[in-house]
Amino acid sequence: MFKALVMEQNDEGLASAVIKEIDESALPEGDVTVAVEYSTVNYKDGLCLSAKGGGLVRNYPHVPGIDFAGTVEASDDARYKPGDKVVLTGWRVGEMHWGGYGQKARVKADWLVPLPDGLSAQQAMAVGTAGFTSMLAVMALEDHGLVPGKGPVLVTGAAGGVGSVAVAILANLGYEVAGVTGRPESGEYLKELGATQIVAREELNETVKRPLERETWAGCVDAVGGDMLARVLGQMQYGASVSAVGLAGGAGLPATVIPFLLRGVNLLGIDSVMQPYENRLRAWERIAKDLPMDKLEAMEKPATLEDLPQLGADILKGQVQGRVVVDVN
Ligand code: NDP
Repeated sequence: MFKALVMEQNDEGLASAVIKEIDESALPEGDVTVAVEYSTVNYKDGLCLSAKGGGLVRNYPHVPGIDFAGTVEASDDARYKPGDKVVLTGWRVGEMHWGGYGQKARVKADWLVPLPDGLSAQQAMAVGTAGFTSMLAVMALEDHGLVPGKGPVLVTGAAGGVGSVAVAILANLGYEVAGVTGRPESGEYLKELGATQIVAREELNETVKRPLERETWAGCVDAVGGDMLARVLGQMQYGASVSAVGLAGGAGLPATVIPFLLRGVNLLGIDSVMQPYENRLRAWERIAKDLPMDKLEAMEKPATLEDLPQLGADILKGQVQGRVVVDVN
């Protein structure tokens, strides 16, 4: 038996969370069983913890948790043996497949990544999908020519999970970082992470009026989408790139193509879920090397399985600052 947070549906088809003991035989199919140590809370977890599952959860009862880190307990795959430390993000685990909000998980070996040297299970979950995606976004900007010294790099939704990690990584790599936040009280926090400029959300979330504005940003990690992304495209320097990561401000993109045509701006799509193994490995190794652990600690909020229903609701309202680390034991 093991403890897990289980989403159960009532007669009206609405799901709610219960924390209970489940028999190991109920675990889904997979070739590796992991003793989970830590999980976390991403925006998608908020959706999976909601009454309708955000359109992501197909079958109930369901154990959410899109990320986890822990120790291999049993393995039918030659790549993993009991005692190995592993991390999992993506592959629709926690949505279609049972996830990390329990003391045990069973998954496909293909979905796992060995925990890089120098990173504990707890630190890996302080990173989680949000931080892993931030690193993918930074790597994409670098692959498209971003180097320090070209001007400020903008991070939108800066006090959220993706944004916080992106600020810390970019600042540590020597970039000048500007963070957009709708929470003025987060200014100090963002400066601690390494931002040198704080931009108020209101300055950027208005509909595009002029397709081109002053060339300001050397790069951008965008967690917000919508009107803000549209505005930012018109403010990018010539040839600069934006990594499009999220839709916290909306899935629309009410923009013109002018920044692409007249300034050679690049819009780079970032997907963390189906990312190939080699790139996952590269991103986790870069995280262990380029994300300062004292900064990661400054973003961490500890939590337990009992806290998750509230945290899920909070993250959907944009009210979680930094990264939640859930001790599932
Ligand atoms: P968080 O809720 O932690 O962060 C989102 C931040 O966006 C908030 O903290 C807030 O920052 C800002 N924000 C919220 N609402 C609005 C709004 N209406 N207008 C402008 N800004 C807003 O979520 P995560 O960091 O975990 O995820 C961010 C986004 O990235 C989500 O949309 C998520 O789905 C997506 N995502 C995508 C991935 C991928 O593979 N592409 C992987 C991981 C996440 P502040 O208070 O500073 O303004």
